[in-house]
Amino acid sequence: MKSEARRAKRRGVRRPPGEGERTFEGLAVSPGIAIGSAHLHEAGNVAVPERTVEAGDVEAERGRFEAAVQKSLRQLAKLNSKSSTLPPNVAEEIGFLLDAHVQMLSQSRLVRGVERRIVENRLNAETAVQAEIAAIAEGFAAMEDAYLSARVQDVRDVGARLIRNLTQTPYQAFKNLPEGSIVVSEEITPADTALMDPETLAGFCTALGGAEGHTAIMARAMGLPAVLGVAGLVGTVRSHDTVIVDGTAGRVIIRPTASTLESYEARRLEFVREQRQLARLAKLPAVTRDGVEVTLEVNIELPRELESARAVEAAGIGLLRTEFMFMNRDDIPDEDEQAKMLTEIVQGMEGRPVTIRTLDVGGEKLASALGSEADPGANPALGLRAIRLSLSRPELLETQLAAMLRAAAHGPVRILLPMIATVAEVREVRLILAKVARRLVRRGTRLPDPLPPLGAMIEVPGAALAADALAQVCDFFAIGTNDLTMYTLAIDRGDEQVAHLYNPLHPAVLRLIQFTTEAALRNRISVSLCGEIAGDPRFTGLLLGLGIRELSMSPIKLPRVKQRVRSIELAAATTRAHAIMDQSDQARISALLDDFNAER
Ligand code: PEP
Ligand code: MG
Repeated sequence: MKSEARRAKRRGVRRPPGEGERTFEGLAVSPGIAIGSAHLHEAGNVAVPERTVEAGDVEAERGRFEAAVQKSLRQLAKLNSKSSTLPPNVAEEIGFLLDAHVQMLSQSRLVRGVERRIVENRLNAETAVQAEIAAIAEGFAAMEDAYLSARVQDVRDVGARLIRNLTQTPYQAFKNLPEGSIVVSEEITPADTALMDPETLAGFCTALGGAEGHTAIMARAMGLPAVLGVAGLVGTVRSHDTVIVDGTAGRVIIRPTASTLESYEARRLEFVREQRQLARLAKLPAVTRDGVEVTLEVNIELPRELESARAVEAAGIGLLRTEFMFMNRDDIPDEDEQAKMLTEIVQGMEGRPVTIRTLDVGGEKLASALGSEADPGANPALGLRAIRLSLSRPELLETQLAAMLRAAAHGPVRILLPMIATVAEVREVRLILAKVARRLVRRGTRLPDPLPPLGAMIEVPGAALAADALAQVCDFFAIGTNDLTMYTLAIDRGDEQVAHLYNPLHPAVLRLIQFTTEAALRNRISVSLCGEIAGDPRFTGLLLGLGIRELSMSPIKLPRVKQRVRSIELAAATTRAHAIMDQSDQARISALLDDFNAER
């Protein structure tokens, strides 16, 4: 680019976003076609908690601010590297914008000003950011300079990013959107997704996020078409543009022409028709051609998903992710409230088993009500997450277990522990469970006898390798291939930059699944698989062939998996699974599997 044009850009003279149809590719994370009007989801308007900081806490507050700056820089670097896949002129345009934001976070007036306000005025970091942004914006406005006034929005954007990273607050902005809106955002957290109402929203698309992260899982749970990891989206779409989200192909089209619209409308109707046909399978049993029964259950997060579990005639709930009941609120639900929510689900399943998992907060799933203990730490996926957090806060765990035991009086319940790595963790929970049960009996609460089975998620490679030992202390296993794949291959499941490397068909992952299944069978305890591959018919034959007979998945996925189960001959699937387990090359494994699937 010519240097004058470059300077013009630096002066804030940006080209308006291009007119006409544009197509973007991303990750297909939740199937279906959505056509609607764009709602740009901005990072602003986050409620800022104001407080003064004790003298002894000033350093810690500076540390929080520094961590938010670093996280913001990481996010900007990620956005920058994503934009390199775009046409050069668009990439350059976005590059300038992101560079400006990076500069504002690098020993700038903004950073120094916020630090000064924390240290001298003892303000908490969020308030200090807000005050400094307001002061800078006011100063710019007074200068009446076109270049600087164009920078004001950048300053505000950077401030909003910092505050969002500091508060870890989800957006609350999905209410009152016109029906059929499509949310377009840089990033949507799992907690944000839990606030979406599939009755009003048509779908969503984001620049960041991987296919196996919890945002993707929630999108599937709600049946909302979604495409994540779309480079160049933000900055090109304008509010109220018509947007097509093709969650099946991983494509987003903005400002489509009349003929594109027509063809996607036809595809949308075809998808709806297909779903209706699959729904007819609900009444049919999940049995292979050679008569082997398979238990198909669902993963749910919130009581409102109960209806979809019943609609597909699930054999039970194989995974209830209770952490979603702790999100988007300032307080922790007490025992009565938790017991009420869980009882509603247990009663709603009318005698079919409900597997309730204790809190799996941490990593990418944050619940602001849990405060600093749920701080992601330097290495969130390896930090104080899941059962580790529960054991470090026994009052949290005891309340959850008490609520589960109370719900268990209304129907069959199994208690599941996330991220178990050692036998000692299970033993410790067993002792706590017994203590909680005694306390409830003293209170006169009716409890099931025997107490509900206690099982472990097998999602840490070390737990899979120690499956024989864990089977001695567990009543059942649930294999969590989402995390198992992430930890085995060292690939962040929620990071779109490495999404292409995330492969549950890696021989190491398959061996861990096989070893865990065989250890469960040897020790006569039941084993299910509740990672996302359970809901992908491509994997069904392989998983049955490895000995799995219980699969738990998003309700939307169950009909297709049932269809696949009914087309499989278990003897042939077992032979093929053995052949696959003899391979070391992922491409060969894929080919053997696809070839088997094609033989229907
Ligand atoms: C898993 O890790 O496979 C799993 C089912 O748990 P989550 O997706 O909630 O981490
Ligand atoms: Mg997991």
